[in-house]
Amino acid sequence: MWKVIGQDRVVSLLQRSLERGSVAHAYLVVGPPHVGKMTLALNLAQALNCQGDAPPCSLCDACQRIDSGRHADVQIIGLDSGNLAEIGIDQIRQMQHSSSLPPFEGKYKVFIIDQAELMSIEAANCLLKTLEEPAAGVVFILLATSGGVLPATVVSRCQQLELSPLPTSRVEDVLSQRWGVEQPRAGLLARLCHGCLGWAISAAFDERLLKLRAERLEGLLDILNGDYEQRFSYVTQLVAWFGQSRRLVQEILDLWLDWWRDLLLVKLGSGGTITNIDHEAMLVNVAGGYRLGQIRSVINGIQTTGGQLRQNANPRLVFEVLMLSIPVGSGG
Ligand SMILES: [Zn+2]
Repeated sequence: MWKVIGQDRVVSLLQRSLERGSVAHAYLVVGPPHVGKMTLALNLAQALNCQGDAPPCSLCDACQRIDSGRHADVQIIGLDSGNLAEIGIDQIRQMQHSSSLPPFEGKYKVFIIDQAELMSIEAANCLLKTLEEPAAGVVFILLATSGGVLPATVVSRCQQLELSPLPTSRVEDVLSQRWGVEQPRAGLLARLCHGCLGWAISAAFDERLLKLRAERLEGLLDILNGDYEQRFSYVTQLVAWFGQSRRLVQEILDLWLDWWRDLLLVKLGSGGTITNIDHEAMLVNVAGGYRLGQIRSVINGIQTTGGQLRQNANPRLVFEVLMLSIPVGSGG
């Protein structure tokens, strides 16, 4: 049984390749964070090594060992605690060495590269050599937010599988029916996750995620109400976070974007479609303090910030420009 939910097209494509014995030697699974890329990759690893009649059966010894991260032939490569900025060449070399040895207990060796976009250039070039000379019984599964963030030479050697965010109503149904999450919590989580079910499920059972969101929203509101001095000291904080984890800063920018889009929707009288449904009254109040054009220009500013950071612009400069673009003293 495939565990990944709402990705029927990709699952049936994989199912057919498995039945025909025409499995690719490398896959690139793309989609936003928490959309189900790792779940799909582990499911595929199970399907390749399953000992049951209907792979992935999720019940046999191989499926269960993969599920609990104890299968010797399935390895996950990602950021390690020694280097949170990039996946280095040493990690890829180790993987290459391991891939040159026959499977230890299963039928296939499966290497899953999580956040493959964080590979250093040297690491990606090193991986490319492996992909150019595929060995039998080895499958590489790269996970990334999109194909565009990886070298074209790497992408061209992988079969690409695109996972799409689920509709909000589907997430809400899965949360309530499969995970027993009650309303209004299910509705809120379904909106906050933007179709990325994994985040909603995690947040349903881990209070820290909603707490973190509350802290970040508070930070945003402080900025709106703060003067430039406060804003620039927040920039220093953002720059430090950016040095630790780009994804963390992107999450903060995404939350800001949600907030400002909600303000726009409220301003336009479409409050029913907002993301932050638990802050509706506050959004209405805050929206009253801005003109439509101001809200639009902050939204543009946040989007530009994200784009410039991805193009490796100087983060301090980029954040400072963003802070200057937010109107002062009308935050409600
Ligand atoms: Zn199985």
